[in-house]
Amino acid sequence: MKISILIFGSDNFIAKLPDQIHDANSFNLEVITNLNQAISRIQITPPDILIVQTSCDGSMELCYWLKEQTKLSWIYCILLEDRSQLLLDRSRYGREWELEMTSIALREGADAYIWLPLEETDSTSAELTASQNLLLAQLTIGLRKAQKYRDLIRTNDLLLAIALADSLTELSNRRALEWDLPRQIQKARTNGTPLSLIILDVDYFKKVNDSYGHLVGDRLLQLLSNRLRQNLRYQDTAFRYGGEEFVIILSHTSCDEAVVVARRLNRIVSEQPFAINNQLSINITISLGTACLRMEDDVNGISLLNRADQCLLQAKAAGRNCVISYEKYFSHHTSHLRVFSS
Ligand code: GH3
Ligand code: MG
Ligand code: MG
Repeated sequence: MKISILIFGSDNFIAKLPDQIHDANSFNLEVITNLNQAISRIQITPPDILIVQTSCDGSMELCYWLKEQTKLSWIYCILLEDRSQLLLDRSRYGREWELEMTSIALREGADAYIWLPLEETDSTSAELTASQNLLLAQLTIGLRKAQKYRDLIRTNDLLLAIALADSLTELSNRRALEWDLPRQIQKARTNGTPLSLIILDVDYFKKVNDSYGHLVGDRLLQLLSNRLRQNLRYQDTAFRYGGEEFVIILSHTSCDEAVVVARRLNRIVSEQPFAINNQLSINITISLGTACLRMEDDVNGISLLNRADQCLLQAKAAGRNCVISYEKYFSHHTSHLRVFSS
């Protein structure tokens, strides 16, 4: 994979950089001279390495801004010092002063600080070559860091996927739900959009295990998960909550729409048996409870989950294979059930 380098500097400055940097086979090079453009480019597609010309307006702000960004501070930032006054001061004040300036630059957030004389004189041409070599060495370090960082991200993504997936059904697991639900709630509240939840549980699943064994039970859970997944809309996310219980988050979905979705799931499970193998097909039904987000619900969604769960219990009590909606059942029907059967 090619390493991407963003250069914050002028054309005159680019011409002083070593030829190797211009090798399109090794590097993806982009040049920007405007601070705001550089910031938005870094935010949208972060480069691996940032090279900054200090004499460019906003150079120190860019460097400082970068190190303040927790998610971007890994970008390797090389400051190339070409401000003529500082180069003059350096030859006037000597080595100690130069070290002090370097310390300041590193404290400001640079990963490397290199003096780069741009004036063409005999004495500076040897120094320019030395500076270019130092820059190449620093690029090697930046490159090594970028590769390590990418490996880390890849491993991290993999571990995250493992941690949040249910290995049997390949649906997201309960941990993923606990991570996702508070975010969905916050998003719904910020955007002022409705959010609903379905909890569903397989009816008499124990009988399947008892009659055909756990392996058949496992297979049935896989087939059921596939069928649920295939029948969800793009804004719905299914999670395996526990053994044979599933939760579905329905974003942008009102209480009434949630009932429609739940009834459809109820129907698509019961109307067609699940083919375990050539010899065995099993009919099952599910019971479902739905609830939708309220102002007073807690940020983690515990109360929302709880209401949907109460409905699931009611659906079981009502004879199973049905949908009960909290809003419809508990708000309007305290004395008798409001049950939707498919
Ligand atoms: P109800 O209609 O009241 O939900 O009855 P049920 O039999 O489905 O409910 P119960 O909670 O008594 O049984 C759930 C069963 O699901 C018990 C458990 O052995 C089984 N189960 C849970 N997880 C798995 C799994 O991963 N694989 C298999 N094969 N069975 C599982
Ligand atoms: Mg069950
Ligand atoms: Mg259960």
